[in-house]
This record gives sequence, C-alpha cells and structure tokens, in this order.
Amino acid sequence: MSQIKDFVAIGDLLGVVEEFIPGSGTYEANGRIYAMFSGFKRIDRQRLEVSVQPVKKKEIIVPQVGDSVIAEVVFARKQSALLRIFKIRNHFLFDTYDGILHVSNMSSNYLANVDDGFKPTDIVRAKVMSKNEFEYELTTKFPEYGVIYAECSNCGTVLVREGNDLKCNLCAYPNPRKFAKDYGHVRERIENLQ
Ligand SMILES: [Zn+2]
Repeated sequence: MSQIKDFVAIGDLLGVVEEFIPGSGTYEANGRIYAMFSGFKRIDRQRLEVSVQPVKKKEIIVPQVGDSVIAEVVFARKQSALLRIFKIRNHFLFDTYDGILHVSNMSSNYLANVDDGFKPTDIVRAKVMSKNEFEYELTTKFPEYGVIYAECSNCGTVLVREGNDLKCNLCAYPNPRKFAKDYGHVRERIENLQ
C-alpha cells in the first residue's frame, strides 16, 4: 500500500544502498542505485526496496484534478477516509492510487464523522479536488457523488435504496451512507480488477 509512484528516466538516481535494496529495473554502481530504463519508480517501504516498473503507454493514466473517479473505501476515521482509486473515467487502472477525503468535503449536509457516511469496502464515486506528492484529495459533496455500491456492515448483504436511506433487507441493521443520487441504478462497471 505504501508505494510511491514517480516517473523516472533511464540512468536517473533512485537512491543509495544505505536507504534501499536495489530491486528489479535498477542497477547499482558505487553504492548508488539507478534506473535501468524509463518507468515508474516504486518504493516498497516494508522491504525497503526501490524498483522501476516498466510502463506501456496505455497504462499511463493517472488521476487529474477534476476527474470523476471510482474508489473503494479502505478505512474511515472521524475526520477523514482513505480511498483506493481503481477507475478513472472509463479506465480501470493497472495500479491504484490513494485518495483522502476529509469530512468537510463529504456532503453538503453536515456530517460529524466520516464513518457516518462511508464504511470500509464501500465503492464510491468521487471528484479529484487536488493532488499532492503522495495522494489525491477527493470530494463527494455533490449529489452525483458518494457511495454507489455498499454492503451491510453487519451481515454483508447488498444494500438497497429506500427513499433517502439505504437498507439491509436481511437484518435491518442501520447503514447510514452518503450515497450518490443514482445508487441502485449505476450503469458503470464497478468491479475491481483484483
Ligand atoms: Zn444486514
């Protein structure tokens, strides 16, 4: 999960051996690690390994500010949620991107906590507001944005829309969500590639 992507050219310095293990697509000279070819620099923070992932032109699709993206909720805290972006416009992505959604950007109605509107594994349509080095900032403030697929937090049954609420027809457990206006009529494919 903690991978940082960055486009590098052949021969670019990626790091030093005191920092990282040289991984695939790299070579080492005098304790320095270089890119063997152009591609995405990838850092595995757990293994402390740096590598270069070759890129096919078709795969260089990254979220841009203003894009509508489809993402899965990884976790929801009080003030923010981490979402994994896996689809942009009509393209399923080869790799996923991290998006952060702050509670103030969740809904035009006041919500005290992010988990009043999102739960882990929910699939969300969101808009990219901004981008920094590591992640994208997302918003679901508008009616067309929000949860487009959700399962009951208690029993896993797919939730169905009833008026302004989502309901579990099996166990009736309360499932508050900030859902998109077309919930239940979403045409776009939302299955993750994984
Ligand atoms: Zn249920």
